[in-house]
Amino acid sequence: MSTMTVDNTLRDRAVAAVATVDDPEIPGVSIVDLGLLETVTTTADGTVAIGLIPTFSGCPALAMIAADVEAAVTLLPEVGEVTVEWLRSPVWTIERVTDDARRTMATNLTLAVRADSGPTPCPRCDSPTVEKSEFGPSRCRAVHRCDSCLEVIEVMRDR
Ligand SMILES: [Zn+2]
Repeated sequence: MSTMTVDNTLRDRAVAAVATVDDPEIPGVSIVDLGLLETVTTTADGTVAIGLIPTFSGCPALAMIAADVEAAVTLLPEVGEVTVEWLRSPVWTIERVTDDARRTMATNLTLAVRADSGPTPCPRCDSPTVEKSEFGPSRCRAVHRCDSCLEVIEVMRDR
């Protein structure tokens, strides 16, 4: 086993720790599955630097997420200083959200992800939805209504 493997292991464990952190506004969905984790840098003396990208600048959950990430990584053995930074680039896009996260959001939270083109499909019945208000309960989300099942849904947005 080389020293490189040790470094990779610490990095892997740091990534796994970050993956235990859910978005406070999307319970049950990891911020890693939402595509927020961009960089994890570790050093031989156990320093871990986490780089996250925000889903939407000004989202009030950001401070809570950073604190949760720092706490989760700090709990790991052999970890010294932990820093969490919000990166200015790349810009978060909905393409970063994993299929698993999309399924969980649709099933548990009636939360959809804005379609790349055309109307956003309803998480319940897959019919096209109509935007009712540009900004929902948080700036990251819009409110849509499904024309078929009349379900009101929230839609994650990246712009
Ligand atoms: Zn529907």
